Amino acid sequence: MLGGGRSDLFQGLGTVARLAHDLEIGLRAEHHRDAGPEHRLVVDQQHADGHDGRPGIVTSVTERPELSPFILLDHAGPADFKPAAKARGVDWHPHRGFETVTVVYDGEVDHHDTAGNGGRIAKGDVQWMTAGSGLLHKEFHSPEFTKTGGRFEVMQLWVNLPAKSKMTAPRYQELTTKTIPEVALPDGGGKVRVIAGEYAGARGPAETFTPVNVLDVRLRAGQKLVLDLRDGYSAAFYILRGGVRLNGSEDAAETELVVFERAGAEVAIEALSDATVFVMNGQPIEEPVYGYGPFVMNTPKEIEQAFVDFRLGKFGTVPDEETA
Ligand code: MN
Repeated sequence: MLGGGRSDLFQGLGTVARLAHDLEIGLRAEHHRDAGPEHRLVVDQQHADGHDGRPGIVTSVTERPELSPFILLDHAGPADFKPAAKARGVDWHPHRGFETVTVVYDGEVDHHDTAGNGGRIAKGDVQWMTAGSGLLHKEFHSPEFTKTGGRFEVMQLWVNLPAKSKMTAPRYQELTTKTIPEVALPDGGGKVRVIAGEYAGARGPAETFTPVNVLDVRLRAGQKLVLDLRDGYSAAFYILRGGVRLNGSEDAAETELVVFERAGAEVAIEALSDATVFVMNGQPIEEPVYGYGPFVMNTPKEIEQAFVDFRLGKFGTVPDEETA
């Protein structure tokens, strides 16, 4: 059984959870748009579409098929939680056909899944979970965080899998502040944390199915940084904090998503105030995308199969002690 006490559960982790539970919400992006104009000049911007004054879902494949292999971005928080007795979070729910990448900026998240994996990620840590052929998982505030309360802010990015890997065995990668390389920028200008892919010779620890660069960039006011986003790759920035000027001309503000054309490579970022920028950059997967709720496949038939398999218990079963 999915989703007891939903209204309470959803307050912690944001609308990606609501999406995962509300199976009637579909993702429909059958076609990729053309790469567009010649130059990777800026920009197409949108604001996060939030609830309760918080950002929430920033974008999804329905709005942005040109972001392939990235399917969805959710910004949960920042929010301040009071001490509580009952942990907030998202109860058991399924996924198939893609990966969820959870980046903790503040707070603590506990994770358990029916593939037998689990763990706690705290500030600066990342969980890179491959749903693959399918699993059930739950994501909650840690008991300690629940007890003390405090600032909570998490990003969750969904990364698509190529057709040939959609039914791969589930995998769980816990990437901690110890294993995520941090490249210091000159003159104390900030830092680049490499979660996946590469920056300035530093390699991120995430193993991925297609080439992606996922970076957590912190830039001090007045500082500049030039990123090579690979000609032909999809590329987007989400501004968590502060304001930036891109390629010397276009400004982007807090909670804005900036989507670049695929052609071209370099983007110059100048921080107008202390800025935190989440960088998504990857080789497009040129395949049809058919998603429905927590399943992202290539055809409607595969979505139907996911529902059948889910009902047959092929995604695993919730531990006995939790079904009482
Ligand atoms: Mn989930």
